[in-house]
Amino acid sequence: MVCLLCVLFFSPQDSFLTANTYLFMVQAQGMMLRDNVRTIRHMIRLYTNKNSTVNGTDYPDGSNSSEYVAQPTAFLPENFTYAVNLPCPEKLPSMKGWNHVNMTEIFMEDIMLQFSKHTDIEEAGHWKPKDCKARWKVAILIPFRNRHEHLPILLHHLIPMLQRQRLQFAFYVVEQTGTHPFNRAMLFNVGFKEAMKDLDWDCFVFHDVDHIPENDRNYYGCGQMPRHFAAKLDKYMYILPYNEFFGGVSGLTAEQFQKINGFPNAFWGWGGEDDDLWNRVHYAGFNVTRPEGEIGKYKSIPHHHRGEVQFLGRYKLLRYSKERQYLDGLNNLHYTPEITLTRLYKNISVNLSPELAPVTDY
Ligand code: BGC
Repeated sequence: MVCLLCVLFFSPQDSFLTANTYLFMVQAQGMMLRDNVRTIRHMIRLYTNKNSTVNGTDYPDGSNSSEYVAQPTAFLPENFTYAVNLPCPEKLPSMKGWNHVNMTEIFMEDIMLQFSKHTDIEEAGHWKPKDCKARWKVAILIPFRNRHEHLPILLHHLIPMLQRQRLQFAFYVVEQTGTHPFNRAMLFNVGFKEAMKDLDWDCFVFHDVDHIPENDRNYYGCGQMPRHFAAKLDKYMYILPYNEFFGGVSGLTAEQFQKINGFPNAFWGWGGEDDDLWNRVHYAGFNVTRPEGEIGKYKSIPHHHRGEVQFLGRYKLLRYSKERQYLDGLNNLHYTPEITLTRLYKNISVNLSPELAPVTDY
């Protein structure tokens, strides 16, 4: 109560945010209880069902992702031998189950220098394994504005992790210029269209710049169903805030993303676009899978400045997700990008405004 009163001393936006956080904390206690019950139920199922796996990368209904060869249910032994003409397995001995997270600020130049020593990383951070055929060609899209201190920290963690997962990958930093509120979703749509011009990527990971995976068994390949990688965030006390939460880091095949018509373009400011993506995915007949247990844990890089303004119109838009899905998305977006190639990523700068994605009435 005292806290609820003291928030009134801040600006209306601050108090709204703080009250939101306070409410979330209260709800979180209830969720923690439910989560525990669910975990116990899951453990019981795990030990009574011989077909399930312990590492939790299988799909809830037991059907596996688009495998070319049958996947082992356990992680492979150290002496596993790779074959250049065979797809790399998903459960590799190099994936130890933790990713040492270090939030110390580093210069991009230092990271570039560090990875330049690995001559096999090509321009724009493009890499592929040499001892087996990458199972997925993954484009990592990172929406960006004013987070220069975050990007090197993220790349520093992701590059070695993706190499251990033997995925083919490259990074696309999609930077918003201009004065409009941040539009995370539109940036992802731009990134998708631009990346597809480079290569026939089959998997897309939509990655916030301040989310660092804690576990390298969080495999950044795609599957038969869209995936929500960031299931447990430290900023939410490692609890899924609500079942439909689809924020932070998610992944869809190029085909799935095209089928749902991408992200909506109409969400300006913080919030709602990930909820709309969840709706789109379900209206298109998909379910969302998540890594289980510890695997989906993430740490958030502490922010040095204020977040974006909340998008208060999101609730209204979310009521019409279904009607808007094929009117607004990949199909109504036009933009003019400015492209710069760097050693570790392709930078796509784009000045976003609502006129770039006109929507006819629904
Ligand atoms: C917003 C989402 C956000 C979630 C968790 C919701 O109210 O609409 O965009 O990811 O809160 O912070």
